[in-house]
Amino acid sequence: MATDKTHLQAKCEAAHKTLTPQRLTVLKALPDNGQPMGAYALQEQLNADGHAFNISTIYRVLDFWVSLGVVHKLNSSSSYLLCQDRHDHHIHVLQTCTDCHQVVEACDTSTAMVLPNDDNFTPVSNQTIEIQGRCRACQEA
Ligand SMILES: [Zn+2]
Ligand SMILES: [Zn+2]
Ligand SMILES: [Zn+2]
Repeated sequence: MATDKTHLQAKCEAAHKTLTPQRLTVLKALPDNGQPMGAYALQEQLNADGHAFNISTIYRVLDFWVSLGVVHKLNSSSSYLLCQDRHDHHIHVLQTCTDCHQVVEACDTSTAMVLPNDDNFTPVSNQTIEIQGRCRACQEA
């Protein structure tokens, strides 16, 4: 997992939040291959790496990254996914494969989805939309 996550760390700085060692450790532990991870699996991995995080800490840190849009929470499977799209200006569409659980963020589709400019309703930022389907690899299998 040696992929560069500097641009994700930078979002923490941009939001004027402190990049604590815990936040950094959790961010580094999350896989960036489009595979979502549950909080308990993440805890197991962190423990195996010698980090004794309790589950409430992990949830708290994950929620922190979710609030920054760095991590997406998949409500369908209660798991967490590192954002694969560098854009902030559109809703991220998470195309989730029901077979292998790989998630592909749809940039083109989501670019067209602009939040309504309505004074009566202010959406929470960093929302995602989940779409279930089958990825190319599973279709061809
Ligand atoms: Zn995203
Ligand atoms: Zn698949
Ligand atoms: Zn995008």
